[in-house]
Amino acid sequence: MQTPVYLDYHATTPVDRRVLAAMSPFFTTQFGNPASRHHFGWQAEAAVAHARGQVAKLIGAVADEIIFTSGATESNNLAIKGVMRRRPGAHLVTVATEHHAVLDPCKSLARAGHEVTFLPVGGDGRLDLERLRAALKPQTALISVMAANNETGVLQDLPAIGRLARERGIPLHSDAAQAAGKIPIDASAWAADLISLSGHKMYAPKGIGALYIRRGSVPGLMAEIEGGGQERGLRSGTLNVPGIVALGEAAALAMQEMAAESVRLAGLRDRLKNQLLAALPGIHVNGSLKHRLPHNLNVCFEEMDGEVLMMELGDLAISAGSACTAGTGGPSYVLLAMGVPKEWAQSALRFGLGRFTTAEEVDFAASRVIAAVRALRPAPAPPSPA
Ligand SMILES: *Cc1c(COP(=O)(O)O)cnc(C)c1O
Repeated sequence: MQTPVYLDYHATTPVDRRVLAAMSPFFTTQFGNPASRHHFGWQAEAAVAHARGQVAKLIGAVADEIIFTSGATESNNLAIKGVMRRRPGAHLVTVATEHHAVLDPCKSLARAGHEVTFLPVGGDGRLDLERLRAALKPQTALISVMAANNETGVLQDLPAIGRLARERGIPLHSDAAQAAGKIPIDASAWAADLISLSGHKMYAPKGIGALYIRRGSVPGLMAEIEGGGQERGLRSGTLNVPGIVALGEAAALAMQEMAAESVRLAGLRDRLKNQLLAALPGIHVNGSLKHRLPHNLNVCFEEMDGEVLMMELGDLAISAGSACTAGTGGPSYVLLAMGVPKEWAQSALRFGLGRFTTAEEVDFAASRVIAAVRALRPAPAPPSPA
């Protein structure tokens, strides 16, 4: 076993070697631009078409419903701003625990005169459907709810949210960067109109992603990036062919391996959780355990300084709960929105297991965390004389 042990698969994943093998000819011998009308262009165009089908299949869509982008951040911006900017002043509903790649475009739309509702979540991290229903207005133009949270792994009830959105005739967007390739996604069952995916969260490289756009659902979606008119004019720029081939291959591998992989990772995650809970008093699991990605564990500790704890855990590559606030420190806004007390939230640790995680690594991580917490906690008071 090598250290540091990587348990931060929510931040990014390594490229699967099979994905690397599939993409690598498109850097060298098959380097064509898919827009070129000759052998090299046609070769690249065919590879892109094949990958588009593979990505579509992962989420129960058809190929022409997939647009390739640079990642989930761009997909979220295209989906949210692309719908809202053609409806000046219209209302947008999202959730307080979304990734910044959703929250920030929503905030910028609010500054541009849109009304934006950031819905709270319950203590388990889930959105209450009745709260969502009550927030909808005649002028609501979009609902954006993530499929799986990047800090807690908590899953939202997309089929139910989709049914409500459909009932009201409101388009639904879902940031599925953490869910794609990990849990089954069926765009039709979710009744989602827009779904964002990210390559580097599912064993493809950084800098490639996709946006699913249900056929006919959001006519007139406004492009963010204009130019050569690629991707039906919705995302100009020469296609990232190696990245696209990689995303396709990663999607195909996920289709094949998801069922077995999620059982294996849920087993390892529970092994980690059980070891920590058995050894350490004053530890809390954040977020629903039932409605959760199989490979996520997020815990916090009573009476523990999060920064000091992280410093003790140098041989583990894990994130503090606040990692996604990019070095700003302070407790995670996701945990605070769930009502986790500030003093506990600042000690949160996020474990993200993945395809290459072993039982040995999990046991090592558990023993390191247990030792660190014990060493840092104030010694228990001696028993008082009877
Ligand atoms: C990682 C992540 C993003 C950003 O994806 P990029 O491809 O890095 O732009 C957006 N949303 C969620 C939930 C994520 O986990």
